[in-house]
Amino acid sequence: MRLSVIGCGYLGAVHAAAMASIGHEVVGIDVDTHKIDALSRGEAPFFEPGLQQILTEGITSGRLRFSTDTADAAGATVHFIGVGTPQQAGGYGADLTYVDAAVSALLPHLRSGDIVAGKSTVPVGTAARLAELVAPTGATLVWNPEFLREGWAVQDTIDPDRLVAGVPAGERGEHAAGILREVYHPAVAKGTPFIVTDYATAELVKVAANAFLATKISFINAMAEIAEVTGADVTQLADAIGHDARIGRRFLGAGIGFGGGCLPKDIRAFAARAEELGRGESVNFLREVDAINLRRRERAVQLVVDGLGGTVYGKRIAVLGAAFKPHSDDVRDSPALDAAVRLHGLGADVVVTDPQAIENARRFHPQLTYIAERDEALRDAHAVLVVTEWDEYRRELDASHVSSLTSGRVVVDGRNCLDAVAWRAAGWTYYGMGRP
Ligand code: NAD
Repeated sequence: MRLSVIGCGYLGAVHAAAMASIGHEVVGIDVDTHKIDALSRGEAPFFEPGLQQILTEGITSGRLRFSTDTADAAGATVHFIGVGTPQQAGGYGADLTYVDAAVSALLPHLRSGDIVAGKSTVPVGTAARLAELVAPTGATLVWNPEFLREGWAVQDTIDPDRLVAGVPAGERGEHAAGILREVYHPAVAKGTPFIVTDYATAELVKVAANAFLATKISFINAMAEIAEVTGADVTQLADAIGHDARIGRRFLGAGIGFGGGCLPKDIRAFAARAEELGRGESVNFLREVDAINLRRRERAVQLVVDGLGGTVYGKRIAVLGAAFKPHSDDVRDSPALDAAVRLHGLGADVVVTDPQAIENARRFHPQLTYIAERDEALRDAHAVLVVTEWDEYRRELDASHVSSLTSGRVVVDGRNCLDAVAWRAAGWTYYGMGRP
């Protein structure tokens, strides 16, 4: 099938390449010339495991191309919208400028019978509004929210755990859902749940999923706060409650909290939208979820300050991690970088290292020092702060080896990912999050 994908960021570039990899003919469109130039040369513009390979294959096969001109979307049967929906500059709601611009630019190129499939995460009610814009062209709007996880995006796009299609009522909707089933044929054929809903439900499925995940993380971080004043160990608590199948252990990792380009802005936008709908009280708890999350960043910084005897001024601190999570170079609202910036603000000499995210981190925070080589970043540090649980830190960091590089023996494990016993045995003062 011929497809277009408008917006080629973390979602769109992966979607375009993944759709080409399952046999479709795809054009990816973005207003960012640098991104499109890189993609057209077959170079992934960001780090995402597996993307480079399917990008190269797609371009070599001739099934995948990129353009900055929306007119090149003409002739495609399905047009995916994957542009950004960031937090508004002056509020908590989602900024829909890019979605509106992308759909408006597409309108003159739509034919009757085409499908416009929104993938961006939008406030409930957006699809119904956009459907009215699209209607005069004879095309049908569907909302097909995306659940990919950065770091697993290629796999999640090709083999998702579920597909959701919000469609208009009646035959038109059934027809559109049928076309989407064809687009996702390999996943549908292997029995992946394909859930057809109305627009509002599809939009809400996405924000509800993110709200639930954020709440689960903040729940365990709230327990970490209580553990900190009682001497309990939140990691044991998480293991113990996680054995209850109704609760489950996943997403119960207490630490410095969530970040990235989705969870923080999505829960804020959800709360703002609920407020507009007169139902603010229904999701008021999301503000608490947000507040707990942000307090953990402060806590990690405070542990470093405490560990260094009350001040970090003039002290060298090695910060291990800049990406908001491992297997990604995404630093949007990264708790790791936030902690590094706060320590820098307190007068510390902060050295940040990360296997993939240094280039992005430097663009956002040029005031920090970046050293790509981990051991060089650790050299002469008075304290070590681990804030992204890359395998390079979680598994491969040997306390005795680190002792041979650093001048201090204070380690703050912002992700509870190190072996506390081993670090203490090697002479370190170890601080975890919510652990004695
Ligand atoms: P991103 O910032 O990486 O990419 C957005 C892209 O859209 C950019 O490349 C930008 O240049 C482009 N763009 C903006 N306006 C455009 C226009 N008018 N025409 C063409 N291109 C335009 O953002 P992202 O992380 O890919 O997220 C995109 C959407 O997907 C958001 O709504 C996000 O919430 C949602 N989402 C993201 C993820 C994720 O893990 N990144 C997962 C699920 C859903």
